[in-house]
Amino acid sequence: MGQTGCQSVNRRPTAAERRCRRLWFAGRLVTRVSASRLLGLRPFFLSHLITGHCNFLCPQCLWKNNAAGDLTAGEIRRFYAEAQSQGFIANYVWGGEPLQRRDVAAILAASRAAGLFTLVNTNAWFLAQRLDEIAPSVDAFILSLDHPLAELHDAHRGLTGSHARVLDAIDLVHRSQPGLTIIVNTLVMRQNLDALDEMLELWRRLGVAGYMNFIERDLMRAGRRDETRSSDLDLTPEELRRAAAHLARRQSEGAPILNSRAYFDTFANGRRPYRCHFPKVFLEVCADGSVVDCTATERPVGNVSRDRLRDILGRPRIAGMIEDGARWCSVHNNADRIDTSLTWELHPPVLLTLGRLAWGR
Ligand code: SF4
Repeated sequence: MGQTGCQSVNRRPTAAERRCRRLWFAGRLVTRVSASRLLGLRPFFLSHLITGHCNFLCPQCLWKNNAAGDLTAGEIRRFYAEAQSQGFIANYVWGGEPLQRRDVAAILAASRAAGLFTLVNTNAWFLAQRLDEIAPSVDAFILSLDHPLAELHDAHRGLTGSHARVLDAIDLVHRSQPGLTIIVNTLVMRQNLDALDEMLELWRRLGVAGYMNFIERDLMRAGRRDETRSSDLDLTPEELRRAAAHLARRQSEGAPILNSRAYFDTFANGRRPYRCHFPKVFLEVCADGSVVDCTATERPVGNVSRDRLRDILGRPRIAGMIEDGARWCSVHNNADRIDTSLTWELHPPVLLTLGRLAWGR
């Protein structure tokens, strides 16, 4: 039986083992950020869309591509092994809907076997069905929840029963996988703007904390710009400002919001540019293996199915992205970009949140 971090693989970890593993990872993350700041190292956290396919119909999605060809599990296994040898320490797995892949258990096991702290973002539709086979390889689930009311979440996501599956999955994980972290992710948009307090109350009732992410603008993914997305999702600048101020206030009152206060401050008085360090931390890889140049998504840096990762990491655009983020680019609205940038800056409140998550709150 293999051993990674504090936990034997291939069996159900205990809550104590999961906490130990989270603390071990948090220490590794801070050490790695500190070393990178001093030595200018390359990204060390994968963001891997393991499939473009998804069973949902969310109008905000810029990533779903049911015609996409995905890497095989064998190609992914080789890629993860190379990532390990290139110093990567974690893997954020998403899609499309990652649990829709029949071989997802093998892929996540490969991620764990490569020593990667493994987080899985899912719409939860298949989670109850796949939980036992994947849980030993997963360190945290990120579940999407877009409205506190079942009928509105389901209507938005295009599948009746999707809200119930999220709630059932949270309950099942809490009962059957002690200590396994669940984080809820809510996209703040016109459709749920008046229901943010109800959403926070639902998070509290479910015993979870989460991130509030303002809907993205001016991005291009899967060959589409966001003007192809229905514009009735978008917040006006005034709505964005009010929502940010309101969520910051709710957070200060004790609501279980994981975003940094600085995240909300970025939007509370009119969106402010920030210094993006995301490319110093993350390497984004699409379902077909192409490596994303985040400031020029139509022009991938390479493809992990045909290029060696070591060669990709040495290409000028990797350094170029890092420079673009530091000098001028701050187009993204998501907490993963802004709070990652603050983690890079060793921003104490963000480190405190990481510490609380690692301890299990
Ligand atoms: S804000 Fe700019 S530099 Fe940062 S991740 Fe987004 S596109 Fe890349």
